[in-house]
Amino acid sequence: MSLIVQKFGGSSVADAERVFNVARIVTETYDKGNDVVVVVSAQGDTTDELIAKGQEINPNASKRERDMLVAAGEQISISLLAMAIEKLGYPVVSLLGWQAGFQTSSAYTSARIRRVQPNRIRKELDKKRIVIVAGFQGLSKYDDITTLGRGGSDTSAVAIAAAMHADLCQIYTDVEGVYTADPRKVKNARKLKDISYDEMLELATMGAQVLNNRSVEMAKKYNIELEVLSSLVKAPGTIVKEKSRMEKMLISGVAKDTEVARLSVIGIPDEPGLAFKLFSKLSAKNINVDIILQSIGHDNKKDISFTVSADRAEEAKNVLADYVENIGAKEIVCNTEVAKISIVGAGMESHAGVATKMFEALYDAQINIQMIATSEIKVSVLINKKDADRAVTAIHDKFFEE
Ligand code: ADP
Ligand code: ASP
Ligand code: MG
Repeated sequence: MSLIVQKFGGSSVADAERVFNVARIVTETYDKGNDVVVVVSAQGDTTDELIAKGQEINPNASKRERDMLVAAGEQISISLLAMAIEKLGYPVVSLLGWQAGFQTSSAYTSARIRRVQPNRIRKELDKKRIVIVAGFQGLSKYDDITTLGRGGSDTSAVAIAAAMHADLCQIYTDVEGVYTADPRKVKNARKLKDISYDEMLELATMGAQVLNNRSVEMAKKYNIELEVLSSLVKAPGTIVKEKSRMEKMLISGVAKDTEVARLSVIGIPDEPGLAFKLFSKLSAKNINVDIILQSIGHDNKKDISFTVSADRAEEAKNVLADYVENIGAKEIVCNTEVAKISIVGAGMESHAGVATKMFEALYDAQINIQMIATSEIKVSVLINKKDADRAVTAIHDKFFEE
């Protein structure tokens, strides 16, 4: 007998038919003699709709109340799934995040899991019940409901698998696994048999939505193998693990992030310490900066451009308003019509010319590069948002079709 954690995303439980489809997958696993813990997200677009409802009432609502609101989505889906499983004649219980022992930080809307105390889950499993847990949510030390940030249910599932030493953690979604690019956008995208934690982490961080990056980080930390697979099509999925076998591939995927903004501080005096001051202002507010570009100075002035996630851009601009004035810079300009396109692959560590090949693909497609950043297993470029899909296809074709 094994302990299996299965996570189902929003589209997998979007309507009654899909809920019963999930109920069947879960009960088949249970019938094989396994203990089953199921993590579910809110149905379909429920989370987006709840956020919109909150915006309508008060766009400046506190993060605490926003979490209280959006956590409701998962409460609906766990109860519906439990009802479907009851109807199939199986013993089942649904639990909210706090009931399942999710203790988090109090950073509302992006809380971190401090620990999972799965006593209640264990008790229910001992009673031979299937346990359904609300993903995405937990409880702070002040006994307030928190959420883990968008896509956070993946992390809930991995956290349970880690805390309970599960034998298998399956992430069911609406595509058949992890592909070399978003299979909904790139028609020739290929399903990967397996991928390493490090590559998956870069892909997820760079915009491949299929797994939340924190879930991959946690899977790597606790060495939990993940299987990403479809809830709708019975087919082998993708295994995410320490070492992948795909050594022959130069890159494992192309990712796109359109939730990004470029800020440029123009006319900074060309003297020591001013870059330090700029970025320390941002880090004091926990605003993460990704690509950075500094122009060559002229007339004792220089420009510094950098990218931040689009939802922090306005805040970043405000945080830097004083700085711009105090140091006598000219202005700060924000551009949200940009996209970050990245290629990821362990193969590039040992092969020269990978970045060149990416740039060639963009040149062939006549797409201009605004910024470039590289790491050992990744190359990212910033381009115009309107070119994003075309760029992904051009780069994907260059690496996988030639
Ligand atoms: P869920 O609701 O199951 O959590 P998500 O919508 O969060 O599902 O993630 C699945 C989606 O991720 C897919 O529908 C697909 O469009 C998108 N996606 C982006 N990049 C990739 C990729 N490289 N491989 C697979 N899916 C990807
Ligand atoms: N329902 C949440 C969201 O839409 C969590 C998740 O889907 O993982 O972000
Ligand atoms: Mg998701």
